Amino acid sequence: MIDLDHVSKIYENGQPAVDKVSLHVDKGEFVFVVGDSGSGKSTLISLLLKETEPTEGVITVNGFVLNTMRHRKVPKYRRKIGVVFQDFRLLEEMSVYENVAFAMHAVEARGRVIRRRVPNVLREVGLTDKQNSLPRQLSGGEQQRVAIARAIVNRPDILLADEPTGNLDPGNAYEIMKLIEEINSRGTTVLVVTHNKELVNEFRKRVIMMRKGAIARDEEEGGYIEA
Ligand code: ADP
Repeated sequence: MIDLDHVSKIYENGQPAVDKVSLHVDKGEFVFVVGDSGSGKSTLISLLLKETEPTEGVITVNGFVLNTMRHRKVPKYRRKIGVVFQDFRLLEEMSVYENVAFAMHAVEARGRVIRRRVPNVLREVGLTDKQNSLPRQLSGGEQQRVAIARAIVNRPDILLADEPTGNLDPGNAYEIMKLIEEINSRGTTVLVVTHNKELVNEFRKRVIMMRKGAIARDEEEGGYIEA
Protein backbone atom coordinates (compact mmCIF):
# COMPACT_ATOMS: atom_id res chain seq x y z
CA MET A 1 0.00 0.00 0.00
CA ILE A 2 2.68 2.50 1.10
CA ASP A 3 6.36 1.89 0.34
CA LEU A 4 9.30 4.15 0.96
CA ASP A 5 12.68 2.95 -0.25
CA HIS A 6 15.62 4.93 1.16
CA VAL A 7 13.72 8.20 0.98
CA SER A 8 15.40 11.45 1.96
CA LYS A 9 14.19 15.03 1.82
CA ILE A 10 16.82 17.72 2.16
CA TYR A 11 15.59 21.33 2.20
CA GLU A 12 17.74 24.27 1.12
CA ASN A 13 19.44 24.51 4.50
CA GLY A 14 21.12 21.17 3.75
CA GLN A 15 19.78 19.34 6.79
CA PRO A 16 17.81 16.19 5.99
CA ALA A 17 14.21 16.55 7.22
CA VAL A 18 13.68 12.92 6.26
CA ASP A 19 16.82 10.80 6.27
CA LYS A 20 17.01 7.52 4.31
CA VAL A 21 13.65 6.25 5.47
CA SER A 22 12.54 2.81 4.31
CA LEU A 23 9.05 1.91 5.37
CA HIS A 24 6.29 -0.45 4.35
CA VAL A 25 2.65 -0.10 5.38
CA ASP A 26 0.21 -2.85 4.37
CA LYS A 27 -3.32 -2.31 3.21
CA GLY A 28 -5.60 -2.05 6.24
CA GLU A 29 -2.90 -1.17 8.76
CA PHE A 30 -3.26 1.50 11.45
CA VAL A 31 0.00 3.33 12.12
CA PHE A 32 0.83 6.05 14.63
CA VAL A 33 3.75 8.27 13.65
CA VAL A 34 5.25 9.95 16.70
CA GLY A 35 8.34 11.99 17.48
CA ASP A 36 9.48 15.41 18.66
CA SER A 37 8.69 18.58 16.78
CA GLY A 38 11.05 18.84 13.80
CA SER A 39 11.63 15.09 13.50
CA GLY A 40 10.18 14.92 9.98
CA LYS A 41 6.58 13.80 10.48
CA SER A 42 4.93 16.57 8.44
CA THR A 43 7.51 16.20 5.71
CA LEU A 44 6.63 12.52 5.52
CA ILE A 45 2.95 13.44 5.05
CA SER A 46 3.80 16.01 2.34
CA LEU A 47 5.88 13.42 0.52
CA LEU A 48 2.97 10.95 0.58
CA LEU A 49 0.63 13.62 -0.82
CA LYS A 50 3.21 14.54 -3.46
CA GLU A 51 3.19 18.12 -2.20
CA THR A 52 6.95 17.88 -1.99
CA GLU A 53 9.47 15.77 -3.89
CA PRO A 54 12.04 13.50 -2.26
CA THR A 55 15.70 14.40 -2.76
CA GLU A 56 16.43 10.71 -3.09
CA GLY A 57 14.64 7.38 -2.82
CA VAL A 58 11.45 5.96 -4.26
CA ILE A 59 7.91 6.37 -2.92
CA THR A 60 5.21 3.99 -4.07
CA VAL A 61 1.60 4.35 -2.94
CA ASN A 62 -1.21 2.11 -4.15
CA GLY A 63 1.00 0.87 -6.96
CA PHE A 64 1.82 4.39 -8.16
CA VAL A 65 5.45 5.47 -8.16
CA LEU A 66 5.12 9.07 -6.99
CA ASN A 67 8.55 10.12 -8.26
CA THR A 68 7.59 9.66 -11.89
CA MET A 69 3.89 10.51 -11.68
CA ARG A 70 2.82 13.15 -14.22
CA HIS A 71 1.53 16.41 -12.79
CA ARG A 72 -1.85 15.98 -14.42
CA LYS A 73 -2.27 12.63 -12.63
CA VAL A 74 -1.66 14.07 -9.18
CA PRO A 75 -5.23 15.31 -8.45
CA LYS A 76 -6.64 11.90 -9.28
CA TYR A 77 -4.04 10.24 -7.08
CA ARG A 78 -4.87 12.57 -4.15
CA ARG A 79 -8.55 11.69 -4.40
CA LYS A 80 -7.71 8.25 -3.09
CA ILE A 81 -6.21 9.77 0.05
CA GLY A 82 -8.33 11.42 2.73
CA VAL A 83 -6.57 14.02 4.86
CA VAL A 84 -7.46 15.45 8.27
CA PHE A 85 -5.61 18.29 10.02
CA GLN A 86 -5.34 19.61 13.55
CA ASP A 87 -7.17 22.83 12.62
CA PHE A 88 -10.13 21.15 10.83
CA ARG A 89 -9.96 23.43 7.73
CA LEU A 90 -13.71 23.55 7.11
CA LEU A 91 -15.43 26.02 4.80
CA GLU A 92 -16.88 28.45 7.34
CA GLU A 93 -19.76 29.76 5.22
CA MET A 94 -21.04 26.29 4.39
CA SER A 95 -23.19 23.99 6.48
CA VAL A 96 -21.97 20.62 7.70
CA TYR A 97 -23.86 18.92 4.88
CA GLU A 98 -22.42 21.30 2.28
CA ASN A 99 -18.87 20.89 3.55
CA VAL A 100 -19.09 17.15 2.97
CA ALA A 101 -21.04 17.41 -0.30
CA PHE A 102 -18.48 19.91 -1.60
CA ALA A 103 -15.77 17.24 -1.50
CA MET A 104 -17.97 15.08 -3.72
CA HIS A 105 -18.74 17.93 -6.13
CA ALA A 106 -14.99 18.44 -6.41
CA VAL A 107 -14.61 14.94 -7.85
CA GLU A 108 -17.67 15.43 -10.07
CA ALA A 109 -19.82 12.86 -8.31
CA ARG A 110 -23.41 12.67 -9.52
CA GLY A 111 -26.10 14.50 -7.55
CA ARG A 112 -27.96 11.31 -6.83
CA VAL A 113 -24.85 9.69 -5.38
CA ILE A 114 -24.09 12.79 -3.30
CA ARG A 115 -27.62 12.92 -1.87
CA ARG A 116 -27.39 9.30 -0.85
CA ARG A 117 -23.86 9.20 0.44
CA VAL A 118 -23.57 12.43 2.46
CA PRO A 119 -26.34 11.51 4.93
CA ASN A 120 -24.81 8.06 5.33
CA VAL A 121 -21.39 9.46 6.14
CA LEU A 122 -22.86 12.03 8.53
CA ARG A 123 -24.62 9.19 10.32
CA GLU A 124 -21.34 7.26 10.54
CA VAL A 125 -19.63 10.18 12.27
CA GLY A 126 -22.67 10.88 14.47
CA LEU A 127 -23.63 14.28 13.03
CA THR A 128 -27.04 13.68 11.50
CA ASP A 129 -28.59 16.22 13.87
CA LYS A 130 -26.06 18.90 12.95
CA GLN A 131 -26.17 18.69 9.18
CA ASN A 132 -27.59 22.21 8.77
CA SER A 133 -25.26 23.85 11.31
CA LEU A 134 -22.33 26.05 10.38
CA PRO A 135 -18.86 25.03 11.61
CA ARG A 136 -18.73 27.90 14.15
CA GLN A 137 -21.89 26.53 15.77
CA LEU A 138 -20.11 23.25 16.53
CA SER A 139 -17.70 22.10 19.23
CA GLY A 140 -14.12 21.27 18.26
CA GLY A 141 -14.86 17.55 18.39
CA GLU A 142 -17.87 17.99 16.13
CA GLN A 143 -15.85 20.08 13.68
CA GLN A 144 -13.25 17.36 13.49
CA ARG A 145 -16.04 14.84 12.79
CA VAL A 146 -17.10 16.96 9.83
CA ALA A 147 -13.50 17.03 8.61
CA ILE A 148 -13.34 13.25 8.93
CA ALA A 149 -16.65 12.82 7.10
CA ARG A 150 -15.29 15.00 4.30
CA ALA A 151 -12.05 13.01 4.22
CA ILE A 152 -13.80 9.64 3.84
CA VAL A 153 -16.82 10.53 1.71
CA ASN A 154 -15.01 9.71 -1.53
CA ARG A 155 -13.97 6.36 -0.05
CA PRO A 156 -10.22 6.81 0.00
CA ASP A 157 -7.83 3.89 0.33
CA ILE A 158 -5.75 5.79 2.86
CA LEU A 159 -6.61 8.25 5.63
CA LEU A 160 -3.77 10.56 6.70
CA ALA A 161 -4.37 12.47 9.92
CA ASP A 162 -1.87 15.14 11.01
CA GLU A 163 -2.38 15.80 14.74
CA PRO A 164 -6.14 15.19 14.50
CA THR A 165 -6.64 15.56 18.25
CA GLY A 166 -4.24 18.46 18.77
CA ASN A 167 -7.01 21.01 19.41
CA LEU A 168 -9.32 18.76 21.42
CA ASP A 169 -9.87 18.04 25.09
CA PRO A 170 -9.10 14.48 26.24
CA GLY A 171 -12.70 13.24 25.98
CA ASN A 172 -13.19 14.49 22.43
CA ALA A 173 -9.68 13.37 21.47
CA TYR A 174 -10.54 9.84 22.56
CA GLU A 175 -13.82 9.86 20.61
CA ILE A 176 -12.09 11.10 17.47
CA MET A 177 -9.43 8.39 17.71
CA LYS A 178 -12.18 5.79 18.22
CA LEU A 179 -13.86 7.06 15.07
CA ILE A 180 -10.61 6.81 13.11
CA GLU A 181 -10.16 3.28 14.46
CA GLU A 182 -13.66 2.37 13.26
CA ILE A 183 -12.89 3.71 9.79
CA ASN A 184 -9.72 1.61 9.80
CA SER A 185 -11.65 -1.49 10.86
CA ARG A 186 -13.75 -1.14 7.71
CA GLY A 187 -10.60 -1.47 5.59
CA THR A 188 -9.08 2.01 5.17
CA THR A 189 -5.34 2.18 5.77
CA VAL A 190 -4.69 4.82 8.45
CA LEU A 191 -1.64 6.88 9.33
CA VAL A 192 -1.98 9.20 12.34
CA VAL A 193 0.71 11.71 13.27
CA THR A 194 0.28 12.56 16.93
CA HIS A 195 1.86 13.82 20.13
CA ASN A 196 -0.91 12.37 22.23
CA LYS A 197 0.98 9.91 24.43
CA GLU A 198 -2.10 8.71 26.31
CA LEU A 199 -3.96 7.76 23.15
CA VAL A 200 -0.96 6.06 21.57
CA ASN A 201 -0.49 4.01 24.73
CA GLU A 202 -4.19 3.23 24.98
CA PHE A 203 -4.84 2.16 21.38
CA ARG A 204 -1.85 -0.19 21.01
CA LYS A 205 -1.24 0.09 17.29
CA ARG A 206 1.91 0.01 15.24
CA VAL A 207 4.06 2.95 16.37
CA ILE A 208 6.74 4.53 14.20
CA MET A 209 8.94 6.89 16.19
CA MET A 210 10.85 9.45 14.14
CA ARG A 211 14.01 11.12 15.37
CA LYS A 212 15.98 13.65 13.31
CA GLY A 213 14.33 12.46 10.11
CA ALA A 214 15.04 8.78 10.64
CA ILE A 215 12.91 5.96 12.00
CA ALA A 216 14.17 5.43 15.53
CA ARG A 217 11.67 2.70 16.37
CA ASP A 218 8.95 0.74 14.59
CA GLU A 219 6.91 -1.49 16.84
CA GLU A 220 3.69 -3.49 16.53
CA GLU A 221 1.17 -2.79 19.31
CA GLY A 222 3.60 -0.24 20.61
CA GLY A 223 3.42 2.58 23.10
CA TYR A 224 4.69 6.13 22.99
CA ILE A 225 7.55 5.40 25.37
CA GLU A 226 9.88 2.50 24.70
CA ALA A 227 8.87 -0.54 26.71
P1 ADP B 1 7.65 17.57 12.36
O1 ADP B 1 6.40 17.46 11.52
O2 ADP B 1 8.06 16.26 12.96
O3 ADP B 1 7.58 18.67 13.35
P2 ADP B 1 8.85 18.64 9.95
O4 ADP B 1 8.73 17.62 8.89
O5 ADP B 1 7.91 19.77 9.94
O6 ADP B 1 8.86 17.92 11.37
O7 ADP B 1 10.32 19.26 9.92
C1 ADP B 1 11.51 18.47 9.83
C2 ADP B 1 12.70 19.41 9.62
O8 ADP B 1 12.61 20.02 8.33
C3 ADP B 1 12.76 20.56 10.60
O9 ADP B 1 14.12 20.81 10.90
C4 ADP B 1 12.14 21.71 9.85
O10 ADP B 1 12.66 22.94 10.29
C5 ADP B 1 12.58 21.42 8.43
N1 ADP B 1 11.60 21.90 7.43
C6 ADP B 1 10.30 21.55 7.33
N2 ADP B 1 9.69 22.13 6.27
C7 ADP B 1 10.65 22.91 5.68
C8 ADP B 1 10.67 23.77 4.54
N3 ADP B 1 9.57 23.94 3.79
N4 ADP B 1 11.83 24.39 4.24
C9 ADP B 1 12.94 24.19 4.99
N5 ADP B 1 13.00 23.40 6.06
C10 ADP B 1 11.88 22.76 6.43
